[in-house]
Amino acid sequence: MLTTGIDIRPSTTDNVGLFATEPIPAGTVVWLPCAKCPTWSAGELDAVPADRFGLLDKYGHLLTDGSLLLPCMGAFLMNHSCEANVLDTGLDFGLAVRDIAPGDEVTCDYATFTEDEGWSMTCNCGLPGCRGAITTEQGHDPELRARLTARIDAVLPRVAEVDQPLHDVVSSVSRAYARVRQGATTVAQAGTGTTVCSPPRPRAHRPTEHEVLK
Ligand SMILES: [Zn+2]
Ligand SMILES: [Zn+2]
Repeated sequence: MLTTGIDIRPSTTDNVGLFATEPIPAGTVVWLPCAKCPTWSAGELDAVPADRFGLLDKYGHLLTDGSLLLPCMGAFLMNHSCEANVLDTGLDFGLAVRDIAPGDEVTCDYATFTEDEGWSMTCNCGLPGCRGAITTEQGHDPELRARLTARIDAVLPRVAEVDQPLHDVVSSVSRAYARVRQGATTVAQAGTGTTVCSPPRPRAHRPTEHEVLK
């Protein structure tokens, strides 16, 4: 699911991208894997014809269980930037890590975004700190993760302060979000082991503790 105030427009990075049409303050939950995002199991992916698989491979989001999720509401069109303004390291949602002004492209860091071993992409972000090639392995690099996590930590307290258009959805699936709302101020305090690559499976019916133990 994608927050409000974002539109699809031509981008210099790829054909199109996501652009803010309203101010998105730092600390806003921008997107998260949700029950409405279409998914394909690993088995279903094997049966997808090659041309269609190419599109899913480009825009989908490979999860730790080998399934693929296509972020809904056009969120799959979010481009990569080596100075992304939306990050998810250690969280199961993408968070605005700086104020995003109307007209700004909304970007994330693809290295933290896939578990596809051996995946790589040439980056066109053109920024001074551009890493050139973006790889799945970078997402596991402790130095990069620490740098991205520090950027999240810097704005995490704002999660409880800013207006959250996705509040109902994110509070129903994310324990990390609940912990931040209850006062966790760092990813280390809020982290629950779930990430955007291993989101808690959204269920229509959540079994109670009693049902689970039965
Ligand atoms: Zn969704
Ligand atoms: Zn780059």
